[in-house]
Amino acid sequence: MTRVRFAPSPTGMFHVGGARSALFNWALAEQSGGTFVLRIEDTDAARNRPEWTEGIISALAWIGISGDSPYFEGPYFQSAYEQAHREAAVKLLKDGRAYYCTCTRDDVKARTGSEHQGYDGYCRDRGLTEGAVRFRTPDEGVTVVDDKVRGRVEFPNAAMEDFVIVRGDGSPLFVLANVVDDMEMRITEVVRAEEHLSNTPKQQLLWEALGAQPPVWAHVPVIVNEKRQKLSKRRDKVALESYRDEGYLAEAMVNYLMLLGWGPGDDREIMPWSEMMPLFRLEDVNQSPAFFDEKKLRAFNGEYIRALPLDVFIARCDPWLDPSWDRGLFAKVAELVQTRVALLSEVTANVDFLFLEEPVFDQASWDKAMKPGAAEILSGYAERLESVSWDPESLKVALEEVGTAHGLKLGKAQAPVRVSITGRTVGLPLFESIAVLGRERSLDRLRATLAKLS
Ligand code: GLU
Repeated sequence: MTRVRFAPSPTGMFHVGGARSALFNWALAEQSGGTFVLRIEDTDAARNRPEWTEGIISALAWIGISGDSPYFEGPYFQSAYEQAHREAAVKLLKDGRAYYCTCTRDDVKARTGSEHQGYDGYCRDRGLTEGAVRFRTPDEGVTVVDDKVRGRVEFPNAAMEDFVIVRGDGSPLFVLANVVDDMEMRITEVVRAEEHLSNTPKQQLLWEALGAQPPVWAHVPVIVNEKRQKLSKRRDKVALESYRDEGYLAEAMVNYLMLLGWGPGDDREIMPWSEMMPLFRLEDVNQSPAFFDEKKLRAFNGEYIRALPLDVFIARCDPWLDPSWDRGLFAKVAELVQTRVALLSEVTANVDFLFLEEPVFDQASWDKAMKPGAAEILSGYAERLESVSWDPESLKVALEEVGTAHGLKLGKAQAPVRVSITGRTVGLPLFESIAVLGRERSLDRLRATLAKLS
């Protein structure tokens, strides 16, 4: 029975790399009818905050990973199992696999002459009964980590110091707590970020020393920005929540994240979860860093938006529209909006002109459109709008004629009209917009611009 886990530490915003690891695990659980355990590794009390835990849980739910699914178990909180972590250390002490140590960093430095030297084993056989607890690593041989992504990785034991598993104050370290929890939770596959590969030989030794069969390991590649630098929260936009809040669709995000380091083996890219999930194999995950390309993600999102049935698109736009805006009016332009936006957050600026008393004028658009001659176009068009037949085609022909009378092509003649109607030089098709806005409101807007220009 496959039991995987996702074990984030709530020390900041939820990173897209974490989301990618979670999805890989989620795919393994779902394709096998197994279990995905969410374990919040909250033992570092100084760095954890409850709102970050809530952020993780809600961001996971956004990408479809939640207790609503039969594969989901948890969340468990690592801090609740400290007793079990300590008991494991006691067992290792009893079995002679660990020992107490009272050396300070300065002691080790004084003996070895270097700050960078590992622990020298001074307390190994002193038979102390208190202090920090160190794991006794083998002196010779190698520890082999068979990693599903990295292959066979060998770690010479001589280079591995006797590492601390419980601090002098009795608090267990990550390396131990993480193993004990994985054992207690009967985890069969540990799929996590590459940065933990260096912990793995130690953890594998702990599994063996505690008398258990280590899990299958898989360390997934780092995610980098366009400069090939590891994505960092100080430099890059890494929070999954910020993508959600910018109007990315969860299904596009899931699709894109799954392709960071994995692919279905052909050149398909746009694939819903239901098609990707059964194809996912750890063996097919790349070792090389995965480039997080926001432009590509945006393009994915546009495709997902355009593929939505119109009524679903309308429903998904709802949170982006002011509650006071007339939904019936929005429905009249929704199809035009759907073909134009890549993010749901872009919907607002495309349609606000319909709902506001006066459009939001963008200064740069205004300056560009209101060149000499603009007033003549606006007054000529206003005159035509009073009586023209009210459909996009007639509205267009009328402006063409006004333009021709002033020696302007339609493109040029449109600019002042568009800015008067919508406030901006770019947006929905102009004549459809005027048609939906209606005769009186359109005329009012042209006249208001004329008043400003004179
Ligand atoms: N809590 C660790 C982290 O957030 C995860 C460790 C693991 O997945 O084993 O990096």
